[in-house]
Amino acid sequence: MAITKKTVKDIDIKGKSIVMRVDFNVPLKDGVISDDTRIKAALPTIKYVLDGGAKSLVLMSHLGDPKKDMAKAKEKAEKAGEAFDEKKYIEGKHKMAPVAKRLSEYLGKEVKVAPDCMSDETKKMVAALNNGQVLLLENTRFHKEETSKDAAERDAMASVLATYGEVYINDAFGTAHRDHASTASICKFVKGPCVAGFLMEKELNFLEDKVVKNPAHPFVAIVGGAKVSSKITVIEKLMEKVDKIIIGGGMAFTFLKAQGKKVGTSLVEDDQIDVAKKTLEAAKAKNVEFLLQTDVVVAGSFSNDVPFKTVDVDNIPDDMMGLDIGEKSIKLFKDALQGAKTVFWNGPVGVFEMSNFAKGTIEIANTLANLSGAITVIGGGDSVSAVNKAGVADKMSHISTGGGASMELVEGKVLPGIAALNDK
Ligand code: ADP
Ligand code: MG
Repeated sequence: MAITKKTVKDIDIKGKSIVMRVDFNVPLKDGVISDDTRIKAALPTIKYVLDGGAKSLVLMSHLGDPKKDMAKAKEKAEKAGEAFDEKKYIEGKHKMAPVAKRLSEYLGKEVKVAPDCMSDETKKMVAALNNGQVLLLENTRFHKEETSKDAAERDAMASVLATYGEVYINDAFGTAHRDHASTASICKFVKGPCVAGFLMEKELNFLEDKVVKNPAHPFVAIVGGAKVSSKITVIEKLMEKVDKIIIGGGMAFTFLKAQGKKVGTSLVEDDQIDVAKKTLEAAKAKNVEFLLQTDVVVAGSFSNDVPFKTVDVDNIPDDMMGLDIGEKSIKLFKDALQGAKTVFWNGPVGVFEMSNFAKGTIEIANTLANLSGAITVIGGGDSVSAVNKAGVADKMSHISTGGGASMELVEGKVLPGIAALNDK
């Protein structure tokens, strides 16, 4: 483990009051949690702190974005001509009570919820904590200061949160790319150490150390997904490190078009064709093997209910679009992955949400699962759900809990939530 930031293991916990940022941003509807992966992912650090004899633990997290999400939900309801109950919506989607309940089941002890993050009542609840009691603050994003663009506003909230613990732990990798009061500004005000939790440490160990800084070779990257524009920085950064890069998904068609091929009605970003050409040239100059699909599953429209067939990339019909890689490409990519010591995968190679076009992505997932002696790291929201769908999540070395954060880390950006922590 060669991470540069201090972790909970580097500091004294016993008898200390702790304030910890976690990522409890779980999918919630009408107060029911549909997936509690994120709560489970924070348990090792929470248990470590409690077993280590901490005096108190104040947990904080956002839970959706109340303002943004509600605006969307309201618009949707209005369009459908349905009534919209703001209070009920907020209660069922953005309030922490169900999260606290689930957490208390996992911990086998009571987890109280504070009414907010900064009121006198909350401060009193924090001050009363003792003997390893746990308090979860209400959704940090109910306070506009949390995400404010104005540093002074963020500081106003952060300076209050900082009084809730002698020690600050950040285990919320999923929001580490956000410069928010509870993720970054708080470190200016906490009196004691600011350190990474175990989840944060694991993410850094795999993404920063084993992928970005010190990958074992041969290193193969697979980049897919819809758009070149959203992934080009990742591709450029990866090309500095990898031996081979496999490009799949919708973005492949911009590259194929850049090579002079006809791509029918496939997704193409015409303003990215020059970028694609330059990337192909850069790969040659760097001696990076650049693999594009050789055959493609095409359909007449973006739908699972229309006929589809496999054609060579030189024969894509004018009125059809590519929605998955074909059998020959699956074999090509499989072969390219054999012997790899590091594999980083970001972005599905087809429209895996539709069963007719899921095969390529599932086969890639299975191939990674069966590689022996390779470090396999999956980043990006949709790639992670593809791996889960393939049922091989436990066969991967690391599945990142942060889509956006993992991308930014690989892009080489400074993540405010990580930068703010103490160096080793
Ligand atoms: P991630 O979340 O893993 O970073 P992206 O969000 O970049 O991945 O891309 C995922 C999306 O790309 C999926 O919704 C998938 O349906 C879409 N996609 C994959 N292949 C194609 C294609 N050939 N045409 C259009 N969309 C595609
Ligand atoms: Mg995505």
